[in-house]
Amino acid sequence: MNIETRTVADWANYPVIEAEVASPLSREDIRAYILSHERLIARGNGRCYGDAALAPHLLSTLELNKIIQFDPDSGIIGCEAGVLLSDLLPLIVPAGWFFHVTPGIKSITVGGAVASDVHGKNHPSKGCFSNWLISFELMTADGEITTCSRTENPTLFWQTCGGMGWTGIILSAQFQLMKISGVNMRQTAVKAPDLEVLFRSFDEMRQWPYAAGWVDGTDKKGRGVVFFADHASPELAGSLIFPQKKTRNVSFFAPSWILNPLSIGLHNRIIFSKAKHGEQLVDLDTYFYPLDRVQNWNRLYGKRGFIQYQFCLPEENAFDGIRRVLEIIRKSPETPFLTVLKRHGERPPEAVHSFPIRGYSLALDFPRTRSIFDLVKKLDDLVWSLDGKIYLTKDACSAARMGRVDPVGFGHPKFTSMLRERLRLR
Ligand SMILES: Cc1cc2nc3c(=O)[nH]c(=O)nc-3n(C[C@H](O)[C@H](O)[C@H](O)COP(=O)(O)OP(=O)(O)OC[C@H]3O[C@@H](n4cnc5c(N)ncnc54)[C@H](O)[C@@H]3O)c2cc1C
Repeated sequence: MNIETRTVADWANYPVIEAEVASPLSREDIRAYILSHERLIARGNGRCYGDAALAPHLLSTLELNKIIQFDPDSGIIGCEAGVLLSDLLPLIVPAGWFFHVTPGIKSITVGGAVASDVHGKNHPSKGCFSNWLISFELMTADGEITTCSRTENPTLFWQTCGGMGWTGIILSAQFQLMKISGVNMRQTAVKAPDLEVLFRSFDEMRQWPYAAGWVDGTDKKGRGVVFFADHASPELAGSLIFPQKKTRNVSFFAPSWILNPLSIGLHNRIIFSKAKHGEQLVDLDTYFYPLDRVQNWNRLYGKRGFIQYQFCLPEENAFDGIRRVLEIIRKSPETPFLTVLKRHGERPPEAVHSFPIRGYSLALDFPRTRSIFDLVKKLDDLVWSLDGKIYLTKDACSAARMGRVDPVGFGHPKFTSMLRERLRLR
């Protein structure tokens, strides 16, 4: 097993730490590392934003990348935890299958999808990744392997879904895929001149299973565009070849001043004026993974990195709360570059660690300035007062209470990330 000490950061490039990164090739390697180290955490592909996959000892799962089984009749797939969703697409799509739930990025590992219990643009109808998870194998602090499902070790199953790696190392997982007829999606865009119309469109277009809105965080009225979608009917569904798109790469860190209120305001004006009302056919890659077109886009924020603040508010507080959040931001020196609004449905009562609650979430990306932490504090206070919460997989600096998760109430102290230690300290 390769073990090296190097600087590591998650996707938002803040914080950056020096850590020992072990890359085990087998279960024996993992057991040996777990038994001989404290303060360690599993690391998938580091696509969480803040400090959830950072610790003095990191156990990378990227070498655990075997597909164990795939039944093209039932759509059940089993693989090792380090397999990326993008590795599965060329196998499952030609056989007529796709993920029930996928986040807006395909280069995450299956272990990361379970540990953050990720959600997609269809949470009201499909829930989180755990809704489709059949079972997984977990190596716990004593080096033992436990199989977990809804019926076998159910407590450990639910503590691990959204449990941010604190229960152990997920070795493999088995989950159910969704049948598709082709790669095409029907997409319709609704251009909203203000936040009220934007929210109303989510309500009026409830029959569309997928929805995600872009909000212009620099606009007083909170204008934006919501992209609704559904899988195209069989006659329009197109082929079953997953389109491999050309990507661009940001090969160096941009100077930190590039994303400033002026450039962000201009960018948003262009996005809004170019957006067109109406329906079109787009493929899976275009609808689900638009950000994957630019590799390493996180470097656009410069070496200082950025903060993503994603919160969810209960339905009854969501419109007013999000309006007030945007107002607070507008009065602050900070400017969010990317702002994404999603609607969420009921959470199964067992899924105690899943982020979404019935209501709306907003994700905001801010360049990391000195004063961003003051703004986060204000936002935390408001979100808390409205019974909301933040998404721990995005967090780097929120108050401990905001994830509504007890950092010592479950899991094992051996498995600890900077996130867990930060929550414990406050
Ligand atoms: C551009 C972009 C868009 C995104 N969109 C969404 C979205 O729409 N919805 C959403 O829910 N999320 C979204 N995310 C967040 C991302 O899906 C999650 O953070 C995911 O967990 C990252 O997976 P990873 O493999 O990179 O894991 P990492 O980032 O390496 O780790 C994330 C967490 O999972 C734990 N973990 C990873 N592997 C294991 C394992 N084998 N065993 C135990 N614990 C493990 C880590 O300890 C850590 O706590 C997005 C991220 C990016 C960069």
